[in-house]
Amino acid sequence: MRGGSWAGLTKRDLAKYPFLKKASEYVSAFGLDLRDLVSPTLSKTLERALQRVLDAIRFGKVSPRLTDEDVELLSFPVAVLLVSLVGNEYLKKRYALAEAKRAEELLASESPDKLAVLATDLGWDIRSVEVPFGGILYEFSLSLKDYLRNASRLKDKKWKLVNRLVKSGRVLVTRLEVARLLSEEISSKIEELLAKRGGLKDSIPEGLLPYVERIREAMSELKMGEGPRLEEVGEVLFEAFPPCMKAIYNALHEKRHVPHAGRFAFTAFLLHIGMGIDDVVELFRQVADFSEKITRYQVEHIAGERGGRTQYTPPSCKTMRSYGLCVGADELCQKVRHPLTYYMRKARMLKRRKRPVKTAEGEEGGQGGGEDG
Ligand code: SF4
Repeated sequence: MRGGSWAGLTKRDLAKYPFLKKASEYVSAFGLDLRDLVSPTLSKTLERALQRVLDAIRFGKVSPRLTDEDVELLSFPVAVLLVSLVGNEYLKKRYALAEAKRAEELLASESPDKLAVLATDLGWDIRSVEVPFGGILYEFSLSLKDYLRNASRLKDKKWKLVNRLVKSGRVLVTRLEVARLLSEEISSKIEELLAKRGGLKDSIPEGLLPYVERIREAMSELKMGEGPRLEEVGEVLFEAFPPCMKAIYNALHEKRHVPHAGRFAFTAFLLHIGMGIDDVVELFRQVADFSEKITRYQVEHIAGERGGRTQYTPPSCKTMRSYGLCVGADELCQKVRHPLTYYMRKARMLKRRKRPVKTAEGEEGGQGGGEDG
């Protein structure tokens, strides 16, 4: 089968989209064993797999490298294996998203026929149509189920079903919209793949340990381990904001000037602690020079919904200081290197204090004292 074609898909397609069913059939034919990975013949594959994961950590997007199709194709399951071995939930999500962004870039330049073949491999019910409407050419229709499963993950109003053209129970979409929706599907599929693999810590072959360590080092350089726990904080607690973010918030509230770096840091911070795009836009409404269109665009960009689809992380304390945005430092500031870490710790302290505790007499009361930021 090598060098052939798989129901309209060439080997180059499989290298571009290594998460396809057909791609895993192709890889299975190699009969790879974990021990093979450290053999010199697969060194390029292993290096490329590591690069995929490092790209995800550092840039939030895996760059396509199609010069050696076998290496590009085989390195994907190996990268999935490496991510599983690291066993960090945040990395799993980030990696899945970074691969999806790589795919979206490639999908955007595919022909309509190829897009339909790829979508079908991913299990979609997609049909080619030709419906010009309002200056836009809709080239596909999707089943409601496939549309909603993926569009519901996108926050822009244009994806809401009420804002879509629906014909005979099917949603009309453009070519670029198909690429965008497919990237959501791909991200979920890769997350599922990683969830199935779970943590494989017990079976790390010795030869793979240095690769797993390099990934862990890259994560700690970017303090990535802090991300997922933040997402778990849930509700947004203003009392837990670090002094720098409170200062920016107060300045916005009082319609004082906040430099671009401050607005960027504040926006990225809010999005990371779980605030939705609409709420962040609302928050900026109180600013003197507010423009909904510009603000929404910028917030969506920082959230990774536009442009290069990189979700930006707020700057570290060091960078905040270099921008003159650190107004610290309270006691907790002395112990952290990132405003998100501050928020996460303070939120936990506040939640612990609010939790009712049983007294010796069996009555419930608020838990006082404890740590203080
Ligand atoms: S030390 Fe860090 S968290 Fe504290 S105010 Fe400065 S930048 Fe913010």
